[in-house]
Amino acid sequence: MPGTGDGPRIDLHTHSTASDGTLTPAELVRAASAAGLDVLAITDHDTTAGWSEAVRALPPGLTLLRGAELSCRWYGTEPAIPLHLLGYLFDPESPELVAELSRIRASREVRAERIVARLRADGVDVSWPEIRTSAAGGTVGRPHIAQALIRAGLVRTTTEAFRPEWLGERYRLPKEDIDVFRAVRLLRQAGGVPVFAHPRASRRGRIVPDRLIVELAAAGLAGLEADHEDHSAAEREHVRALAGELGLLVTGSSDFHGTHKTVRLGAHTTAVEAYERIVAGATSGVVPVTSVG
Ligand code: AMP
Ligand code: ZN
Ligand code: FE
Ligand code: FE
Repeated sequence: MPGTGDGPRIDLHTHSTASDGTLTPAELVRAASAAGLDVLAITDHDTTAGWSEAVRALPPGLTLLRGAELSCRWYGTEPAIPLHLLGYLFDPESPELVAELSRIRASREVRAERIVARLRADGVDVSWPEIRTSAAGGTVGRPHIAQALIRAGLVRTTTEAFRPEWLGERYRLPKEDIDVFRAVRLLRQAGGVPVFAHPRASRRGRIVPDRLIVELAAAGLAGLEADHEDHSAAEREHVRALAGELGLLVTGSSDFHGTHKTVRLGAHTTAVEAYERIVAGATSGVVPVTSVG
């Protein structure tokens, strides 16, 4: 349940305009403070571009955990399954990781432009320059295309835009994600702490088997996100039990995207013990930041 107990309120997964959220990093930290959060992680897709603005705008009393959500893929099955890894407190200048993130972002550009071309070939009036502009300088993603479909009057909501007849399947194209084992290794090498985001979110598409999570735990995965709006109650329980068996920490978070999603900041939260394990696990010298005002 959100906000259980009297401990600090900790939300470890949110997006800003550095990727597909609708609040700027400065607006995001202010909104987090206004929502009564004590700790917020900024975890934009495949980028650390929002970090410095978030630090500069940090309101007194809020602690910021710097992170990112990496677009990964598990190649152990055919076709490979896409998945997301949250990385916390890694060195943002670690060369191999920087190179991988920039490669993924470049692939996102190509893929989004191809999705738009496919829509246009079917007579759908959306424009790549307009979508690219709407993403500003941030990591472009399908939510930006979803907004164009809404502007064109073809769907009413982002959720509708992700239905199979639109971005969910018909106009879904793969991007060049990073191999998930390589991602765990690169995050650890950069002194960061990897957590598997929404590992059982079956409503989003195919999910990976537990045996992969067992292997990832042996390879350096630190935790699993259990409380997430895309997990049913049974899925949350399953994730928690698996984490218990494997000695992994468990997080809960909103995966806030501003108006691109309906979920609110702090809708799910993480226990302070899990947060402390994440902080203790980082070896990069990147630490949580608290503004003293
Ligand atoms: P992309 O990273 O471009 O593949 O787009 C994936 C992003 O789209 C996710 O991070 C979510 O923000 C959003 N998304 C994925 N599935 C859905 C869905 N069913 N409804 C709404 N948003 C979704
Ligand atoms: Zn997103
Ligand atoms: Fe995700
Ligand atoms: Fe996310």
